[in-house]
Amino acid sequence: MSWRVGGVRFVAQDRDGRLTGGQRRIVALDRSLLLQCRTSQVTQAAEVADRPGSGLVVTVERGNPRGCLARARHLLEVDHYRQPVLLDAARYVGPDRLTASASFDDRWIGRQRELGLPVLTDSGYLAPADTAGCLGILERAARLGDAIALLPMHPSWLADPTARQHLVRYVEVVGVPVAIVVERAVTPVDPVEVVRGLLELLRCAVPVLLLRADLAALGALGSGAVAAAVGLDPTLRGLDPRDAGPPRQPHQAGRPSVLIRQCLSYQSIAGVEAAMRRYPDNGMWHCGCPTCAGRDLNWLVSRPESARAGLVLRHCVDVLLDLRTEMTGPSVQLNQWSWRARCATASSRLREVGWERLPMLTHWQEAITLPTVSRLNIPAPRRSTSGTRFSRVAPPRAGR
Ligand SMILES: [Zn+2]
Repeated sequence: MSWRVGGVRFVAQDRDGRLTGGQRRIVALDRSLLLQCRTSQVTQAAEVADRPGSGLVVTVERGNPRGCLARARHLLEVDHYRQPVLLDAARYVGPDRLTASASFDDRWIGRQRELGLPVLTDSGYLAPADTAGCLGILERAARLGDAIALLPMHPSWLADPTARQHLVRYVEVVGVPVAIVVERAVTPVDPVEVVRGLLELLRCAVPVLLLRADLAALGALGSGAVAAAVGLDPTLRGLDPRDAGPPRQPHQAGRPSVLIRQCLSYQSIAGVEAAMRRYPDNGMWHCGCPTCAGRDLNWLVSRPESARAGLVLRHCVDVLLDLRTEMTGPSVQLNQWSWRARCATASSRLREVGWERLPMLTHWQEAITLPTVSRLNIPAPRRSTSGTRFSRVAPPRAGR
């Protein structure tokens, strides 16, 4: 039997024609663009992400999983929130982070089940070359029967060709859905290779989610991710290396930034105001999102501060969900070429108004290969799907 998540079809091979609870929850993700927030941000996040195609990832705050579980229960039972919700224990982050060999907390797993949520493992950090840690997370997650294995990983797992090959092989052999969080690449890790590795993982025969991401989440969704999460604030739009200095606190990132659609990037309110004054006829200040309703972004940035944060967040989520709709067509190749073109346009638009370049845009352009005549004419070979619980059978992927 087969089952479909958005435009991507998987085959369930180990059941008699019925979806298991875990598979049903994966199907319900339906290539959602999730908003990742902390426990204390759930109210504001749920208000704006309560629409089809959206959902939440709630990240444990200050090492308090109970608080996160209690807020999730309230969200579901009192607020009657109906979009997909995932809970992130965040044990992979901070000075006391756990390693990949740490066992899962049975209570954390059990409470997610009680709430009827997809079960996301509370994995520790997957260091470079920690093969035993990687297999340990996957095998323990598979034994749970209904879990998504969280793999919060050093970027070399994707960038290094050998590590990448092992990762993809382990994931396919164990056959458990995975949610990855990728630590920011620093020298000597090549960030273009990280994107290439991500694309290869997304081509593999099991459902893959990308969490704690920036706008790269859209590229991942277009490339076949069953869901991807963009952080509500910059601290949740990536994972900083532990030795990258003191972690940014959520309050440091509290000033709202505005998502500029054509630049595929967030800009500070002051930066947007200044650029609008300097380049009034630039053509990218008009916003057709439901919140702005065709107005110039001036209306948004000139709101009184008390009203502004909520409206800015609503505008950002409107734009993200609109881009998500455009990026999740049935053809992964077309989605990827469209994403590549958007990244190129965004780079030039950033340059036009003198804003800082966004390396992510260049990395995706380099990682996505454009069609050649032979690639267009010769059908891509299909990967063997035997021996796995989840098999992706369509559509054909770019670069194969
Ligand atoms: Zn808008």
